[in-house]
Amino acid sequence: MSLEVQITIIGGGVIGCAVAYELSRDSGKDIVVVEKNRQIKGENQSSRNSGVIHAGIYYPKKVGPLKAKLCVEGNEMLYRFCAENNIPHKKTGKLLVATDLLEEEYLEDVYRTAVENQVPGIEMIDGNKVAQYEPNVKAVSALFVPTSGIIESTSLVDKLYRLAESYGAMFLVGNEVFEVEPEVEGFKVKIRSGTEVEIFKTRIIVNAAGLYSDDIVRLVNPESPYRMDSFKGEWGKFYKTKRENIYMNGLNVYPVPFGYLPDGEKLKLPFREFQEKFSKGEINKSVGVHLSPTFETRGNEYIVGDTVIVGPAYSKPENREDYIQTRGKKYYLNMVKPFFPGLELEDISLHQTGIRAKLKDYYDFIIEKDPKYPNLINLVGIDSPGLTASLAIARYVGELLGR
Ligand SMILES: Cc1cc2nc3c(=O)[nH]c(=O)nc-3n(C[C@H](O)[C@H](O)[C@H](O)COP(=O)(O)OP(=O)(O)OC[C@H]3O[C@@H](n4cnc5c(N)ncnc54)[C@H](O)[C@@H]3O)c2cc1C
Repeated sequence: MSLEVQITIIGGGVIGCAVAYELSRDSGKDIVVVEKNRQIKGENQSSRNSGVIHAGIYYPKKVGPLKAKLCVEGNEMLYRFCAENNIPHKKTGKLLVATDLLEEEYLEDVYRTAVENQVPGIEMIDGNKVAQYEPNVKAVSALFVPTSGIIESTSLVDKLYRLAESYGAMFLVGNEVFEVEPEVEGFKVKIRSGTEVEIFKTRIIVNAAGLYSDDIVRLVNPESPYRMDSFKGEWGKFYKTKRENIYMNGLNVYPVPFGYLPDGEKLKLPFREFQEKFSKGEINKSVGVHLSPTFETRGNEYIVGDTVIVGPAYSKPENREDYIQTRGKKYYLNMVKPFFPGLELEDISLHQTGIRAKLKDYYDFIIEKDPKYPNLINLVGIDSPGLTASLAIARYVGELLGR
């Protein structure tokens, strides 16, 4: 292949496709997306997530300025894009529930962050109001978040891909980038499909390789400090129509974000102790095992059906392709029983698994020009809320490139 292009995007997940869509809107003729999977279906993280459109309540600006900004901006952009492009989605609203006094301290902390991030419409409510939204949810108080919702993420990936392609961007699927050589003006990129190897030149690289984005940085700049420390997230599910006491009106219902040990054990520490341990990197913080409505297919259509997903339950994966379910149903039950007491073990069945591109020692998204090779734009550690923030991330990359 004697190809010479302006911009090469490595990875065709939701982030690579969103960047391709954003950068190709004027003309995509000079843009190539290289994706190692055989199709553009977001088969890695982009389809293996909770499908929640986050509002931006969790990310303190001090430690996660990009997550804070891009989630709130991305939330609004995503609803607009979905409405304009017929992507299955729903603004469901969300309840972040506290079941006792200790949890209320955590809840207040999230509230402070949500205010700081200017998340619109949030409201602290009492247990009676919670019951008006979701009668089977038990809480002493909650944060009501009206801009939270759900999306059918593979439809989003597909639309972004098709639009970018229609603007002229070229998608090389079934091709893995395995070597990148910096040159005076740009890079020489080596890709392989089976045993076939091709080489081409590019002026700019956008590294959107998800779980492998740290490897891609090191192909170019071996001094890069970024290392993946991925987590496996697993889900169960149940049918809300099975019994009256597990029926849900359809809001996302989340616990307060507790600390977790690396093996997934939940720690109910006093808030101050939790903050201290979290800031020293001794424990992880997670949004916790939550209840979310999800999309089901009916014929050729996606509809919000009767299935409620329960998860994610985090653990350490063997490697970045380890999709084996290791959590039993009991884990999900124990996690949600305090705020959803009607659920029983036999209601739960196992659902899917995803691996999260969490970086070791970094909380925020990394979106930057590589310090040594500024024509390499690194998107590393784009874990949750990357799906929500995808369009805002793409716009940010456009700004970094001066487009
Ligand atoms: C358990 C879990 C729950 C989540 N829940 C939510 C949620 O509810 N809401 C939300 O907003 N976000 C959520 N996220 C985060 C969100 O899914 C991700 O931030 C987003 O999908 C990241 O997209 P991506 O394109 O960067 O990565 P990916 O989807 O992983 O795509 C990267 C692509 O790069 C390709 N690639 C890798 N290496 C190469 C190579 N060398 N050559 C060519 N191609 C390569 C891969 O094949 C892949 O297709 C969740 C994630 C997980 C795992």
